[in-house]
Amino acid sequence: MTEAGDPGPDYLDRYDALLLDLDGTVYQGREAVPGAVDALRAASARGTRFRYVTNNAARPPEAVAEHLVELGFAAAPAEVSTSAQAGASVLAERLAPGSTVAVVGTEALRAEVSAVGLRPVRAGELDDPGSAVAVVQGHSPETGWRDLAAACRVIRGGGLWVACNLDPTVPTDVGQLPGNGSMVAALRTATGAEPLVAGKPRRPLFDQAVRGAGFRRPLVVGDRLDTDIAGARNAGLASLLVLSGVCTGRDLLACVEEERPDHVAWDLAALHAPHAHGALPRGESPVDADGPAGAWVVERSAEPGAEGRLVVRHAGGAHAPSSLGLLLALCAAWWPVGGTRARWWPSTTPRRPRCGRSASPWSGTEPARAGSPLDRADGCAPGTSGSSASEEIR
Ligand SMILES: [Mg+2]
Repeated sequence: MTEAGDPGPDYLDRYDALLLDLDGTVYQGREAVPGAVDALRAASARGTRFRYVTNNAARPPEAVAEHLVELGFAAAPAEVSTSAQAGASVLAERLAPGSTVAVVGTEALRAEVSAVGLRPVRAGELDDPGSAVAVVQGHSPETGWRDLAAACRVIRGGGLWVACNLDPTVPTDVGQLPGNGSMVAALRTATGAEPLVAGKPRRPLFDQAVRGAGFRRPLVVGDRLDTDIAGARNAGLASLLVLSGVCTGRDLLACVEEERPDHVAWDLAALHAPHAHGALPRGESPVDADGPAGAWVVERSAEPGAEGRLVVRHAGGAHAPSSLGLLLALCAAWWPVGGTRARWWPSTTPRRPRCGRSASPWSGTEPARAGSPLDRADGCAPGTSGSSASEEIR
């Protein structure tokens, strides 16, 4: 478990390897995250090793590495760990060699099942569903009713069911569309069964990546609290949340304990930038006063009519009033007492010091997750506006 306080001038002094999420962490769609290529190149030059860890079970490692190379990263297929590999590994641990497995997924998933000594058959092409002893399910845009129907029969017949991941959606050029979790939900409804899950946030994917590469002190880096960070926590690994993807500052402030990261940074450039990142507390520990959060003071108001509110003000010191520092200070103050019940008050987005970035950490480029406590009426308290030198939460 990481201690509270600033993690020091450089992450790479602490960790020997990085387990990197892809979308939102190293790239966004067809573009590399600004600074990510240079950051990883410099890390590699210092001897840091990588694994690109993806829940995507539809593409083989070669295709993932090829995409990364096109974006400027020096990635090899051997540095890619997919949930298809993890799913096949889960099957191999439980089945006799040569067992027939009904595959709901792409050719890449069938290849991974074959690579562990099992016999993959596309579910929709099974002549006799009774011949399969297991189902493995990963995302494929080609999945049809025949595939699901055959898988349903295998599962109802007592077959093992392994899902590569439970991601409800997949990012596409036209937005978020149904992902493997949505197809798993169809089979869950039809069978009443629950699959074993190989991908993030469950630990088989991280376990396989760490074991396969022989990492001793890896750091998980990702942009999603509910997969990357929760997965790191489940696997007992340290984690760095980057705010270059879907997670916003509001999401972080309101997240449940199981999804709280050890460190937070804007993006991968923080790997080499002193104080462009910060550590977060666990339990009652305060944030290190020498870190970026130390520039902020969070106090409980005693003002008549505002008792109990937390008031944040800039206290000066060695660090400039960065938004990241403010976010860390708020988390340190709020998490031990507020749990997940948080809402910005007043309801307007807090003013953010300029730092040359286009995306706000408070609102991000995407809306907060559906059902976020930040959007609940019961977490909001009416009142007067805070001053320009302070913000209030309750
Ligand atoms: Mg991501």
